[in-house]
Amino acid sequence: MEGVQLLIVEDDDAIAIPLEEGLEREGFECTRVATGAAALEAPPADLVLLDLGLPDMDGNDVCRELRARSNVPVIVVTARGEEVDKVVGLELGADDYLVKPFGLRELVARIRAVLRRTDARGDGEDPILRDGLLEVDTRTHRSTVDGSEMNLTPKEFDLLALLATDPGATFTREEILEQVWDAHWYGPTKTLDVHVASLRKKLGDPDWIETVRGVGFRLRDDR
Ligand code: CA
Repeated sequence: MEGVQLLIVEDDDAIAIPLEEGLEREGFECTRVATGAAALEAPPADLVLLDLGLPDMDGNDVCRELRARSNVPVIVVTARGEEVDKVVGLELGADDYLVKPFGLRELVARIRAVLRRTDARGDGEDPILRDGLLEVDTRTHRSTVDGSEMNLTPKEFDLLALLATDPGATFTREEILEQVWDAHWYGPTKTLDVHVASLRKKLGDPDWIETVRGVGFRLRDDR
């Protein structure tokens, strides 16, 4: 499970610290936060371990909000074992449910099972790149700006999807040509400018894609 990023949302140090140590020994990369608000501000993870009893928010609301934003798998962890919590948690989109106290072995088995299951569903990683008003779904190859669908050619789509992987970052012309066209693209680089121009037109606002003079292009992340 190397390279798997876990977000641990747990306010109780006595649980969170050994949990984080144990999971890191198992090869997971862990980020831990202690509040619901911090969980919603945390960088994207491959799986969220969510305690329902948080100091600032109801864990169920955190789960709902996470689910509204992405397909990240969520395992709900709670001290409350009542069936009603379980039903609510799963209805809100949690992928599994674990009642405290639980052993590390059991947790790791659940994490692996959820990751396998969500990978099989094909949405283990969120294919939708959201950048404010812009959505790029690399699984369905659809993109929308401000809710309306854009009719992009395959190259226009790939170009937009590449820029959207890291909004705000500048991609050099070479990088773009290599990744969107071909690793051995020696054709006229004007092709890129033509595609940027048509993409800007379809985005409805030329400012979406900024030209970084002498370097390349970037998707504006401040819109
Ligand atoms: Ca708690």
